[in-house]
Amino acid sequence: RRLFSASRRCSSTMPAWVIDKYGNNDVLRFTKNASFPVISYPNEVIVKVFAAGLNPIDVAMRGGYGAATFSMQRDPLNITQSGSEFPLVLGRDVSIRIPEPPSDPPTSPGNISIFAIEGSTLVSHKPKSMSHTEAAAIPYVATTVWSALVNTGGLTKENCGTKRILILGGSGGVGTFAIQFLKAWGAHVTVTCSHNAQHLVRALGADCVVDYTAGPVKELLEALGWKFDLILDNVGGETECWAPSLLQPWRGSKYITLVTPFLQNTDMLGIADGMVKTAASLAASVFRHMVKGVHYRWGFFAASGPALDEIRDMVHARQVQAVVEDMFGFSQVPEAFQRIEKGHARGKTVVQIS
Ligand code: NDP
Repeated sequence: RRLFSASRRCSSTMPAWVIDKYGNNDVLRFTKNASFPVISYPNEVIVKVFAAGLNPIDVAMRGGYGAATFSMQRDPLNITQSGSEFPLVLGRDVSIRIPEPPSDPPTSPGNISIFAIEGSTLVSHKPKSMSHTEAAAIPYVATTVWSALVNTGGLTKENCGTKRILILGGSGGVGTFAIQFLKAWGAHVTVTCSHNAQHLVRALGADCVVDYTAGPVKELLEALGWKFDLILDNVGGETECWAPSLLQPWRGSKYITLVTPFLQNTDMLGIADGMVKTAASLAASVFRHMVKGVHYRWGFFAASGPALDEIRDMVHARQVQAVVEDMFGFSQVPEAFQRIEKGHARGKTVVQIS
């Protein structure tokens, strides 16, 4: 069976790219002797990885971003010593095959390796029309968009037809899928991006494109003459100060940002204090916007096999395609990380593993 998945994580030994400490690109180390993944739960399967999609969070995690939260996920009782996550395999997106017959139970997070572990409910059959490289570009960003638009935003193909949606940051991994989903569901889609990404986002279906480098972007968006029913913010930072004012007030409109301080807070303050600070700042923002008649929400990646199944059906129906900007070989993983670090993505970067 050939599948694709956004994995939470991944005997004998296998080739893999690992890190032994957090840092810049120099910490990436190739080894032929990484531990084979070990199944910990009955719903997990060992998979053979053909291609792995890279995301900005993989680069950030190489530098230690989210370490406190991810350590807690690995070791909720905090039994192991600090640093016990190393050697750590990074990565979260894969196109895979479940080997037949199943391999011996082989442990480690991450996917930039020959084998990995997937939760069996988090995988979906790879769209037949797609290569492994294209399929590996889908799971993490596409299920993040799905979670933000459908679960948090309440959008469906039935209720989108009359809605105007604004995507802040339409040209990267998340944005390219968000445009396609929303157009497939019939929404009117406005996108902000750089000048040289306009052609790409229009080709994906964007109805209206605003070049955020051409002037004060808030004014350019106001000049369009309409307000939005939902904003998906992939940019963050100061956008949050002005973007919600572009929503229709008192009409159930939602501002959803994917750029949240959750992992940063837990890294800085530890899990307990970080979660308290996060909850307090979210509650304050929700309240501040509620009194102005708009909903303020955070969107998160949520691994979901059923969402991947729906996305696969959209691929089959030719409503959605993967935009793969760059491909690297397994020996070029450091170059792939550098590509992500450079920014200005136009779609996705994928590593071909085998
Ligand atoms: P990418 O790096 O793939 O894309 C970012 C895109 O935004 C680039 O195309 C960039 O191009 C463009 N961009 C940068 N600045 C602006 C701006 N001011 N206005 C409009 N466009 C801009 O990132 P992803 O799409 O993978 O992720 C987007 C964000 O979502 C990231 O911050 C990521 O961490 C977050 N995210 C959060 C998740 C969650 O669970 N909360 C899950 C997944 C992603 P250019 O610079 O040339 O304009």
